[in-house]
Amino acid sequence: MSDWWEDAACRGMGPELFVDALPHDQWREANFTAETRRRIEEAKQVCGDCPVVGPCRDDAIATNDFSAIRGNLTPVELRAYARARAAIRGERFTRYQPDRVVQNRRASRGVG
Ligand code: SF4
Repeated sequence: MSDWWEDAACRGMGPELFVDALPHDQWREANFTAETRRRIEEAKQVCGDCPVVGPCRDDAIATNDFSAIRGNLTPVELRAYARARAAIRGERFTRYQPDRVVQNRRASRGVG
């Protein structure tokens, strides 16, 4: 992992707030419970004070990590951002790949 992670506001916080805030069956915003929304807001408050939001988003997209709150965006928001960015750049948007996501999110959070 490159140096940007050194300055992350969530460094040392573990995956609970950012990964577990989004249960697997609630990745679509229409299915979010009140508790899920509360936890998302809590995670986003941390991201809001983070100096490396841009690099965090770039890393999430580069590693296909659309399973957690990254760069102050939910997975749904991050996919929309990635799709729009790819369109502007004339690039192909890499679609969500669950197997890679699980590996990547655990690695990026220092889990497993
Ligand atoms: S933007 Fe949010 S998820 Fe990304 S490093 Fe900063 S605090 Fe962590």
